[in-house]
Amino acid sequence: RNLKWQIQCRGDIGRLNAPFLAIYESLIPAEEEKAKQKQLLTLLEKLVCKEWPDARLYLYGSCANSFGVCKSDIDVCLAINNKEINKSEILLKLADILQTDNLQNVQALTRARVPIVKLMDPVTGISCDICINNLLAVVNTKLLRDYARIDVRLRQLAFIVKHWAKSRGVNETYQGTLSSYAYVLMCIHFLQQRRPAILPCLQGMDKTYSVTVDDIEYSYFDQVERLRDFGSHNKETIAQLVWAFFNYWAYGHDYASNVISVRTGSIIRKLEKDWTRRVGNDRHLICIEDPFEITHDLGRVVDKYSIKVLREEFERAAEIMQYDPNPCVTLFERY
Ligand code: ATP
Ligand code: MG
Repeated sequence: RNLKWQIQCRGDIGRLNAPFLAIYESLIPAEEEKAKQKQLLTLLEKLVCKEWPDARLYLYGSCANSFGVCKSDIDVCLAINNKEINKSEILLKLADILQTDNLQNVQALTRARVPIVKLMDPVTGISCDICINNLLAVVNTKLLRDYARIDVRLRQLAFIVKHWAKSRGVNETYQGTLSSYAYVLMCIHFLQQRRPAILPCLQGMDKTYSVTVDDIEYSYFDQVERLRDFGSHNKETIAQLVWAFFNYWAYGHDYASNVISVRTGSIIRKLEKDWTRRVGNDRHLICIEDPFEITHDLGRVVDKYSIKVLREEFERAAEIMQYDPNPCVTLFERY
């Protein structure tokens, strides 16, 4: 495997830039879609504030981290300071408040791993999940968005990787493959590792932003407008990066020993994290450290069957990027 990692990229890689960029452009959501999301959020705020005047609503996930493709659902977090009643009661009350003529299919899922209220807005056609006090998700959403503002190649690469993962059926956490959030972290880490680096490690720099969630402080450098030239010494194009990304995950990554870590901007050892053996349902077959909840491995959903599926998909993608005459089509063929 490692020998293959040394292979040279195909000579005609340059001609693949235009078609990859065209795919990226076609996935960017239209401005009017953003406006519709705002409109729905405003409606929700009005309804929620009638019941809880101090509550606030935050967008998180792909509608706010700049990695959302067109026609995505929106993720909303209700921040509420109410120690007396528990989350399930809040969710049931919330579902009750939102049962209005203006919204459809309102359901409280109180037993889900992340309990939510789901609903659909018939005016805009947008579906929405609302969770309670999941403020770390709001913070990691900001981190991803800040990384995206440093170098456009991150957003290009992540859109293509997410589109590939959805087309190939490997973006399904309930089937043991990876979340969109995990794929974006893989892209950030990969661009931190290029030489010269395309992205810095924001959590390793001076702290200009800090927030406390459940008595723990999270901080990083967020004045990213000052980092606009950071990646300019690296001239790699999107086609080269897609090629190298899949090659890394097919042949270059040491699955047995290594953890990718956006927090440190480097690879760390499984040994260091005590992620070397199965504990409960966490098998640590592919290790992706959450940048804030550092005991949390985003690869923990992956089991001994789905790791095989994933690695075969990375190898398929790497082969296509190396040899296929028309990778921009073949890569995304439905599985
Ligand atoms: P999609 O376009 O597929 O909806 P998404 O960016 O909304 O992508 P999800 O994987 O649905 O990605 O996750 C939504 C948000 O929830 C993420 O941006 C992240 O903030 C948070 N999140 C998701 N999974 C985890 C996790 N395992 N640990 C911590 N936060 C997570
Ligand atoms: Mg989402």
